[in-house]
Amino acid sequence: MQVLAAEVVSITPLTEFVHKVILKPEEAVQFEAGQYLQLVLGEKDKRAFSIASSPSKTEQLELHIGASGADSYAMQSLDHLRNAFDTKQTVALEVGLGVSQIRVDQARPLVLLAGGTGFSYVKSMADHLAETGYDQPVLFYWGVKEESALYAKAEMETWAASNKHFQFIPVVENASETWKGHRGFVHQAVMKDIVSLEPYSIYMAGRFDMIGIVRDDFINHGAERDFMYADAFAFIK
Ligand SMILES: Cc1cc2nc3c(=O)[nH]c(=O)nc-3n(C[C@H](O)[C@H](O)[C@H](O)COP(=O)(O)OP(=O)(O)OC[C@H]3O[C@@H](n4cnc5c(N)ncnc54)[C@H](O)[C@@H]3O)c2cc1C
Repeated sequence: MQVLAAEVVSITPLTEFVHKVILKPEEAVQFEAGQYLQLVLGEKDKRAFSIASSPSKTEQLELHIGASGADSYAMQSLDHLRNAFDTKQTVALEVGLGVSQIRVDQARPLVLLAGGTGFSYVKSMADHLAETGYDQPVLFYWGVKEESALYAKAEMETWAASNKHFQFIPVVENASETWKGHRGFVHQAVMKDIVSLEPYSIYMAGRFDMIGIVRDDFINHGAERDFMYADAFAFIK
């Protein structure tokens, strides 16, 4: 783990509820794709956020913070970052945390599964796989409540077009009549598309209640527990 100070370069809205934050650390960062950082608000108050950028980008870190509700975990973090931006102060970070980083040496087909802002976790891995020319199938599923939450749809379609092994599958829970893709919960779309998850390594991020359900449903659908990765597992039963 690296402890460092970082300048807040920008905070820009991606949707009504999700913000992109760019941080410039005072030294080059080192982490693996799929790891997270902690924003240090106080000695005992550290907030976890996945790093959206690829590890090859050592000069800047990108975060996607989904903040609604004035007093929420994420909104307080965003306020802390905004205050640092306005006052030109640095923020304290602990970088390179988690045990759910990508394992490319397994040479297995991959399911990358994101619910909402869990997208951030999966995005770093997707970019890393593209940069390193991964040659196994990679199925990137991104589930959101409304179509308007698919803020990086065009970017991920470009990612998928860059490698014949990659597919991007957006899934909208409350889709409009004109939506042509999958509807409902994102993990149910995975189970519709894939007969057995047995050969796959599966990486996932999203709400804790979602991750518990997905873990159990996927195991019933053939997935091997030893090849399922989510840092949320450390926080749930
Ligand atoms: C290590 C770590 C890193 C984190 N990183 C971030 C981060 O980078 N950014 C951030 O904002 N927060 C982060 N968090 C906090 C937390 O994970 C997020 O609050 C969560 O991912 C946000 O989901 P959402 O509200 O966007 O999803 P929602 O919009 O509520 O849901 C999106 C989709 O998820 C699926 N889903 C949701 N609930 C269920 C369910 N009960 N059953 C089945 N499917 C369901 C559906 O497909 C739904 O459409 C992190 C937490 C930890 C511990």
